Amino acid sequence: MDILSEQEVNKILQDKENISGQEFSDILEKAKLKKGLEIEDVSALLNTEDENLLEKLFETAREIKQEIYGNRLVLFAPLYISDYCVNNCKYCGFHTDNKSPRKKLTLDEVIRQVKILEDMGHKRLLLEFGEDEINNPIDYVVDVIKAIYNTKSGNGEIRRVNVNIAATSVENYRKLKEVGIGTYQLFQETYHRPTYAKLHQGPKADYDRQITAHERAFEAGIDDYGMGVLFGLYDYKFEVLSLISHAKYLEEKLGVGPHTISVPRHNSAQTVDFESNYKLSDKDFLKLIAIIRLAVPYTGMIISTRETPEVRRQAFQIGISQTSAGSKTSPGGYGQEECNAQFEVHDSRTLDEIAREICEMGYLPSFCTACYRSGRTGDNFMELAKSGQIQSMCQPNALVTLEEYLMDYASEATKKAGDKLIENEIDKIGNLVIKNKLINSLEEVKQGKRDLFI
Ligand code: SF4
Ligand code: SF4
Repeated sequence: MDILSEQEVNKILQDKENISGQEFSDILEKAKLKKGLEIEDVSALLNTEDENLLEKLFETAREIKQEIYGNRLVLFAPLYISDYCVNNCKYCGFHTDNKSPRKKLTLDEVIRQVKILEDMGHKRLLLEFGEDEINNPIDYVVDVIKAIYNTKSGNGEIRRVNVNIAATSVENYRKLKEVGIGTYQLFQETYHRPTYAKLHQGPKADYDRQITAHERAFEAGIDDYGMGVLFGLYDYKFEVLSLISHAKYLEEKLGVGPHTISVPRHNSAQTVDFESNYKLSDKDFLKLIAIIRLAVPYTGMIISTRETPEVRRQAFQIGISQTSAGSKTSPGGYGQEECNAQFEVHDSRTLDEIAREICEMGYLPSFCTACYRSGRTGDNFMELAKSGQIQSMCQPNALVTLEEYLMDYASEATKKAGDKLIENEIDKIGNLVIKNKLINSLEEVKQGKRDLFI
């Protein structure tokens, strides 16, 4: 098996242009088995425009999301460390054509940013660095991660650091592994080679370096890897098909599929004059989220604050399992006015406001990091996820971390919404052993204990 070429992707998209309602329903039935979908099935779903059929697609995505992830939503924050970058990606505020002064955080500044995030209640971060061997060498990245894990503020601590750095060598990935990163995230941005060539200048212009990076990270021992596309650079149908083909290729070759898939959509940014010819409507964006949910049901899906609250609310229902909250997108952006942000955010609410709304929607905000810290990563994790066993850990862990959040950081209104949600969730647990253990853990958190997990 190989990653599909441009010609193959186009051919599969053409072949599956018109399918019957029956064929469509058969694909949805297949998806309900939660074993994923073939590339041809994905193509057929992507080509569907019929409103009634799309409603059925969303309905199926809701069901699968609920069965695998329940009502949990994992929360995290991005932390921009350095906007020094030698690449000139046409869609990004950190491109080299932007001559504004650059900023790279000192370790003291990193610690100050982390304390601000911990005081909000965050437990998971996603670090962002531009590519620049001189200003952001791998040893600097490693020192930043160490500083973050060593920074505590009150009851606050960062328990999982996910990292987004440019495609690099096995040797450098090994250093990330050794310092204990969670997921290594890298997006292909666009799978369409001619578009990729047009939009990139600098070392990142090497398409093959980018598309082979996850394999090098895996060789270095990083078995939780994240993928993604920046939607809006090229035709979304082409991108989704290529992304799923890449994910399947990696799963077959490495024995473990992607831990997460992110679905950023291109947004404007200061100094960026790139105008997309492939802007997607909200409807198409939600459709692709639902299709990815069906195609790779056990891969977590991440949405950012690039999206409006309204789109995010809908996306939570049909596939998203992780979301950023309270984000700033420039180095040193927390606790001050931002300048030179990578892109505009369309959901600028605080973590507390977002957590409250999630509770009020009947979803469960989770700050859980248990798997990574119990060594349940890569293959180990996927086995538990696919057998459904992970469910019995996720729900209590999510509830205990929410209780921590409510005790330490929540406003009165959020505490009220969160307490009500916890009560309802306890009622739903049928297994008495788990229920009693959970009730004890919640009580322990109320008494001041922290960091309890299964
Ligand atoms: Fe640099 Fe990444 Fe922005 Fe490209 S997308 S300019 S590599 S920070
Ligand atoms: Fe994620 Fe594992 Fe926690 Fe479940 S138990 S929410 S899979 S870290």
